[in-house]
Amino acid sequence: MKMKKKFIEDPRFVECLRRAALTTAISGREAGFMVLEFQNQLYFGKSVKGECTHIGFEPSTTVFPSQVQIALAYEEARVVWEVHFHPGADGVILPSCGDLAGLFPAPPPAIPGGGAEAIGIGQISRSGDVYLLVVKRGTADRLSLQEVDEETKGFPDSLPSNYQDEANAILTRAGFEVELLSWPARLMRKKSSKGR
Ligand SMILES: [Zn+2]
Repeated sequence: MKMKKKFIEDPRFVECLRRAALTTAISGREAGFMVLEFQNQLYFGKSVKGECTHIGFEPSTTVFPSQVQIALAYEEARVVWEVHFHPGADGVILPSCGDLAGLFPAPPPAIPGGGAEAIGIGQISRSGDVYLLVVKRGTADRLSLQEVDEETKGFPDSLPSNYQDEANAILTRAGFEVELLSWPARLMRKKSSKGR
């Protein structure tokens, strides 16, 4: 699966990623952001700080211009990406079932935010490199969530990162499309500027 190169190189995306990574690195809590498409335009939400093991993308925390907020509530805006960082350096990046469920439209009464085109689970390594595991729905369905849950139940909390291929294989077998992206540690040190 090839990510749209342009999208992840968009300075607005990189800036959102930098802020979320920094927030998690400093606070030890999950942090993330959403990207929406509305009337053929992309909107990059502000980074939101969550709890230690949970982040909610409720309407009150998604921080978009009000017309986009309303469009999202009426499902006129499309969720393109939901990105959040898991605290704790190193180890396998494994989306939780709740994370993966974000790829499926929520049953009514829906909380806006379901049915994302892609989710990104971030992690910051000890050396400060930023990793993002991008997961798309592929051919997976809701049953695939249980499948992943069953297969990863035995995983200890911090499985060394050399097991990432194994984790990715479990996700792929369940039908998801997976890609691991990375940025060097300097991402968190400087403000991204145009064209960098
Ligand atoms: Zn998560």
